[in-house]
Order: sequence, then C-alpha cells, then structure tokens
Amino acid sequence: MSRTRNITNRILKVVASSVLALSGNLVWAAPGFSEFEPVVLNATQALSPDEAFLRTLFILEQFGVPTEIDSQPLLEELQAVQTPEEIKRVLPFLDLQKTFQRYVLFDTSTGLMSAFQDPQSRKVPDFSVQLTDSPNSSFEPEFQKRLRAAAHNPKERPLAGLRIAIDPGHMGGNTWDQRTGKFIRSAKGQVLSEGILTLQTALLLESELVALGAEVLLSRRTLNAVSPLEFTKFDLRDFALEELRESSLQDWFQALLNKAPAGETLYRAFQSSREVKQIFSDFMRSKYFINRADLMARVNAIQPFSPDLTLIIHFDTLNSGPSNGVNPSGYNRTKAYVSGAFEKTEFASREDRRYFAQHLLDPVTWNASVQLSSAVVTQIGRQLGIRPDASGGSPSTRQVAPGVFSRNLHLNRKITGAPVSYLECLFYNDPTEFAALSNAKHPMRIDGVNHPYSDRLASLANALRDAVLEFVRQSGDPR
Ligand SMILES: [Zn+2]
Repeated sequence: MSRTRNITNRILKVVASSVLALSGNLVWAAPGFSEFEPVVLNATQALSPDEAFLRTLFILEQFGVPTEIDSQPLLEELQAVQTPEEIKRVLPFLDLQKTFQRYVLFDTSTGLMSAFQDPQSRKVPDFSVQLTDSPNSSFEPEFQKRLRAAAHNPKERPLAGLRIAIDPGHMGGNTWDQRTGKFIRSAKGQVLSEGILTLQTALLLESELVALGAEVLLSRRTLNAVSPLEFTKFDLRDFALEELRESSLQDWFQALLNKAPAGETLYRAFQSSREVKQIFSDFMRSKYFINRADLMARVNAIQPFSPDLTLIIHFDTLNSGPSNGVNPSGYNRTKAYVSGAFEKTEFASREDRRYFAQHLLDPVTWNASVQLSSAVVTQIGRQLGIRPDASGGSPSTRQVAPGVFSRNLHLNRKITGAPVSYLECLFYNDPTEFAALSNAKHPMRIDGVNHPYSDRLASLANALRDAVLEFVRQSGDPR
C-alpha cells in the first residue's frame, strides 16, 4: 500500500506544481475558434476529470507502462508557422469528434496554444506551440525545397534529386495470407494475394520512377514482413503495455476507473477485467505483430530516408465474405487516405497528441498530401477508368476531395514532414478486375521465384508514375 500512496502523492505534486506555473490568461474559446466547444467524452464517466486522470496514471504505473517522452522538443520546428484560420479550416478533417479541444487552451492575447495531458481539467502541461497571425513565408519544409528545385531538372530526368518511398501493403504468400486474410480466391480456385499485388506494383513503379531520376526506397522487397520479430515467438509484454495506455479513453477503461480510488482495489479490478486479460493474452499476437510491430518497422524504414513523398499501396475488397471470394455484384472504385479523422479515443497518449499536433500545425504538408492523393485518384480514373469512391470505407473517415479521405491510419499518422498518400488503388475482388489482374503473363522474380504480373498492373504502375509527375509539376510551380 505504501508504494501506492507514494505514487499518488507524486502525481498530486506534479499536478499542483503545474497549476501554479500557469498564467490566468487562458480561455476556452477565442475568435476564430468558435468550434472549440466543450464536449462530453464518456457518458460512463461519473468521476471528476481530475480524479479520472489521477486514477488513469495510477493504473498505468501499477502495470508498469513506461513514462512517455516529452513532446515539446519534437514540435519546435512548428513554432510560429501555423495560423488560427488554417487550423480552423483543417481541424474538421483531422478531429472527428472535437476531442483535441479538451486538451488545449488558447491564449488570444499571445496566440499561444497550450496542450495538456489531463483532458478537460487541463492542469498538467504537455506541449505549447505559438501560432502566428499571418502565414510565415520563411517556413518551407525540406520536401518543398527539393520539389521547387526539381522544376529546373532536365526534361528527361524530371524527378532527379527527389526521394520517393513506397510501402507495399501487407505481406504475401500462403502463410502470411492466412494470417492477414488479405487474399481473394475465385470459385475456380484462382488466388490473388494483396501482398503480392502491392509488391509487384511497387517494383514496377520503382523502375519507372528511377528511370525518371528519382531515388526510391521500398519498405519491403520480399513476401516477408518488414519487422524482424518472429511471429510465433515474440514477447507480447511491451505491446500489451502500450495497448493498455492506448485503451485508456475506451468506455470499458473509463467505466472501470469508477470502481475505487487509486489503490489495491482499483488495481485488482483492472487485473481481473476481461479486457485487460485479453490485452495481455496470446489472442493479441496477430494484432500486435501485423498492426503494431510490422507497421512500426515500415515507419522506421521510411522516416530516416527523408522521403519527399510516400506512397502506401493497397487494394480494396467489398463483400468478399468469410470465403474471401469474388464479389458477384461487382464494385470497383479508387480512393486515397491522408492523415486525420482521429476518433475520440485516439488521443490517449502524449505520442498520439503529438502526431495530431504535427499534422495540425504544419501549414504545408497536410495540404500537399491531399494534392498528391488527388493526383493519384485523377490518374487512376483517367488511365484505368475507375471512378473515385464516394465512400471512405469506414465511418471513421471524412471526405476531403473526390476520392480523398482523412483517416487515422498508423503510417499516415507516423510519417510526418512530407506528403503521404495511402492508396486503395482498386477493388481486386470485382469480377472484371479480378480477371484482368489474374491474367498475368509478364515474369517477375520475387524471393527467387517467378510471380508473373498482368498488363493491368503495369497500367496501374504507369498511372501512379504519372500522378507523381503531375504532383511534382504542380508543386514546383505553385500558384
Ligand atoms: Zn490492404
């Protein structure tokens, strides 16, 4: 019990000292921020915000969830570059339920946006960023400088000096297809593996882009996962601890906080809950590998390359059913995702809120992602005859432009500082599309084995190449 009391005392001290450090000039809403109105996060939460935050910290500490790093140094380059007007314009695409406002206060007299770790009560500082009244013309991200320089490239090498990252989605081959479920099998037994299609597209696109002068990075070149962890053996504990932190705004977590004050009884209530048991169980192995470790490995491969743009390649399905079948009624559309559409439960960690802020406070990059995505949707429409999807494929999306949606996907969130477009190129279980993609006659060696590709896939790679060219041309010649 004494350990419990010490922790609680320490948390209380942090809260108290933070309160003293704040000036009294912070307000809820401000001119230009009328949409910043209070919202109720959880109907199940009967505790005061202070008490709920305290109990959350207690639980995370009891389970041994590591303390997070300070966000402030990672946001320094975004000081005094973003305007309230631009925030107002972009915010509805980034924040689906107006949740971020629960963590921030905006000082109208100084233009300082202060973010806090404790929602609603806002006493424990997280980070603060200075906004600016008028656009800062001296702010130019590296990718934009290189795009501008590319406008002077020789005609036959229009992409010289540019770095392009391509992430072929998923993994391929039978073992991985069974684990990910990302494959389609026709009634005749023909199989298309999404992870092979994405890799083939990436390899074809790479050779097109390299021929035009670009330096290209592929996050994977084999059918295997990018993460070096062994799927069946890796230790789940660190992933479980992060999962627990990421779950802290979920209804079940908030409801459990009501059980008792910080102490043994509360800790035991969490330990014995079905949800917490599941988080620490082998049931989560697949999710932790495919949706956490492997995606993080892709981010870690791409970010150090400092790409000027990143394309994440996927193929969509509709009504494939439990048999992973072709869709008899047929549906084929194209769409692209940009960062945003955070759900109310997706602000749980300092890291989540830092990534959110990085997208919100960079006045250039998010717009460039939308522009890149629009170029892709346009070229796929023009060259493959596929129309922009009117649906984002999930309620947790918001349409930004025809066929372009914001969505809080791992790679979109974590690759920052340069445009990223996450493509659902087409629906590969549409019967006509399935037939075209299955008509594969061109040899391609992957992992030493021939995996032939279709004319259709070559057309897609050409459309993506032309989208990159269109985007580079537009960006080198702004306005
Ligand atoms: Zn996919």
